[in-house]
Amino acid sequence: MSDRRRAEQGEERVLRPRRAAPADAVRPTRAEINLGALRHNLRVITKALSGDQPPRVWAVLKADAYGHGAPAVARTLERAGVDGLCVALLEEGIELRAAGIDCPITVMGGYYGPLHRGLEDALEHQLTPVLYDSEGVSRLAQLARERDRKLEFHLKLDTGMARLGAPPGNVDALLDEIAARPELSLTGLMSHLACADDTSSEATTIQLTRFAKAREKLASRRLVPGVCHVANSAAALAFPESRHDAVRPGIALYGISPFFNQPTDERLQSIASELKPVMRVRSEIVALRTLADGERVGYGLTWAAAGPRTIATIPMGYADGLWRALSNRAHVLVRGRRAPIAGVVSMDLTSIDVTDVPGARLGDEVVVLGAQESPDRPGGKAVANAISTEDIARIVGTIPWEIITNISRRVPRFYREP
Ligand SMILES: *Cc1c(COP(=O)(O)O)cnc(C)c1O
Repeated sequence: MSDRRRAEQGEERVLRPRRAAPADAVRPTRAEINLGALRHNLRVITKALSGDQPPRVWAVLKADAYGHGAPAVARTLERAGVDGLCVALLEEGIELRAAGIDCPITVMGGYYGPLHRGLEDALEHQLTPVLYDSEGVSRLAQLARERDRKLEFHLKLDTGMARLGAPPGNVDALLDEIAARPELSLTGLMSHLACADDTSSEATTIQLTRFAKAREKLASRRLVPGVCHVANSAAALAFPESRHDAVRPGIALYGISPFFNQPTDERLQSIASELKPVMRVRSEIVALRTLADGERVGYGLTWAAAGPRTIATIPMGYADGLWRALSNRAHVLVRGRRAPIAGVVSMDLTSIDVTDVPGARLGDEVVVLGAQESPDRPGGKAVANAISTEDIARIVGTIPWEIITNISRRVPRFYREP
């Protein structure tokens, strides 16, 4: 039976976000995913990596492709010639196989340890497992013997982040064990960097040195490491020595600079400025009212009208990913102009002050994330205004990664081919 059939019959461990589907969408709140921008960003990254021996690009599609919808992103990148895909969860890999994705998929988050049957599922779906301990190695070796075939895996090393990966003290014993298992085929050696976005930090050099030392340990046991990969978006762009055989960009593919709140040189700034945001989130004005001086808005009545004010309501709230921390602090775009959020963002609804947006009316588009043109500006020239993930992250006090992965499943994704 095909993965897809099984998924439909509910027999599989497929991640099913059950997101609102565009065809069912009545509410005019939606995320628009620009697949052309995604391909453009892949080209920008590939160009930045060009050289004598450019690394392979393995796109990171964890967390539903950072909220953009993993199946559509995977299909687009596969057709655009990406060399492979990486996910964090086994379930995410199964979801991609069920969607008909054929290219190599590495499950970076590991196999969930010996207490779970992650390895069996990975094999069944042609997903490359990542191992980091002796239990995983002996379990995979056992599965190889049962199946009477050589099984491939990647080995993850902890080079200083102390998260997942074989700790330095365990590497020798683990490599001895791998060398003694001819039924296994080590096709990748990987690590992850803690501070790659900070080009002034020494941490990356230290981690890369440890990785190089581990490679020597492999060589002394005649183990061939296969594809070596350590670089996320920031490292791939900022540290050429981190590129090895493959790089694992995530955030940059979605058009967001990996150097958030970090100083960068001209070269990195210019690359980051070429990236185009892939997601745009928009809603619409569904109610309008005029408030008199002193009248208040929203839960807790935290916002008061200073003079007569026009308040518009949009059908989007914190349960959609419009952060409550933006209450009384952020702006949205209406008719190309910035309109402040008035009062507290509630679960499903948000009020905005459109007093200074001439002509604001029911049905007007409200942009929460991304660009909006104002064709009705005096002089007749279209002007674009924009709200970036970085803008929102600064106000919320977090990083763009968390903003972009937080648009919830209630918001249908509409795919745009420009
Ligand atoms: C998320 C992740 C990446 C991609 O990171 P970005 O900063 O989004 O480019 C790469 N490798 C691993 C192991 C990750 O978890």
